[in-house]
Amino acid sequence: MSFRDRGVEIKTPEQIEKMRLAGLVVGRTLELLRDAVKAGVTTGELDALAEDHILSSGAVPSFKGYSHPPFPASICASVNDEVVHGIPGDRVLEDGDVISIDCGAIVDGWHGDAAITVGVGEVAADVAELMRVTEEALWHGIAAARLGGRVTDISHAVESYVRSQEHPTGGSFGILEEYVGHGIGSAMHQPPNVPNYGRPGRGPKLVRGLALAVEPMVTLGSSETTLLPDEWTVGTVDGSWSAHYEHTFTLTPDGAWVLTALDGGERRLAELGVPFGGH
Ligand code: MG
Ligand code: MG
Repeated sequence: MSFRDRGVEIKTPEQIEKMRLAGLVVGRTLELLRDAVKAGVTTGELDALAEDHILSSGAVPSFKGYSHPPFPASICASVNDEVVHGIPGDRVLEDGDVISIDCGAIVDGWHGDAAITVGVGEVAADVAELMRVTEEALWHGIAAARLGGRVTDISHAVESYVRSQEHPTGGSFGILEEYVGHGIGSAMHQPPNVPNYGRPGRGPKLVRGLALAVEPMVTLGSSETTLLPDEWTVGTVDGSWSAHYEHTFTLTPDGAWVLTALDGGERRLAELGVPFGGH
């Protein structure tokens, strides 16, 4: 193991099975929330739904009490020009808004972490395109991961996909650089970092038992962000709207297994020509 692999947690197949259980709780919670998003609903109501569902599934919400100041909720709810880490509360969703929901759960000490962006009613065409590009970038990143490859193969694939797509109003997409994906396992955030940009072929080797959360955060404008006074919410400096999609995945000798996707990623991986490594 080289210096750059230091701190990387290698899971046994049994531990990966536990992560799959956590991932399924996260995936099901996000599907529940996707259906609950509509005009008139508050982000706090979505949080309450998520917390109930996670707890009644026998899991623990990993975000609640996380870090300093302690995150006060079970999901992050980031609306429009908020990119990530939005605190749920009294904000009422309106038609045309877009909400990024990030969710984490723990089963028997093992973590799952995923995020989706959902439109409220009909969203503007450029926002819909931003969502499509960001979600596709996530899958292209996962699809670039191979046993024996390197972590930044994922980073490069995410960036390359975003850069290959035409911006709907003629500008260029912003890819956040200050916030990145990460290793995950017995803690939510572990080494290595998984940036959403950069050259391939660098970083720790992709080996069996490694689990990563890949999470492109993309805006319609600048990638520059600012921390809001609540000390958590990350917003864009130029007010441009953003999207955030995330999955936790691992590699088995058979292929990729997306632990937070309800079908393990089988359908999307097949579309991208990637063997499915789950069961
Ligand atoms: Mg997350
Ligand atoms: Mg994450």
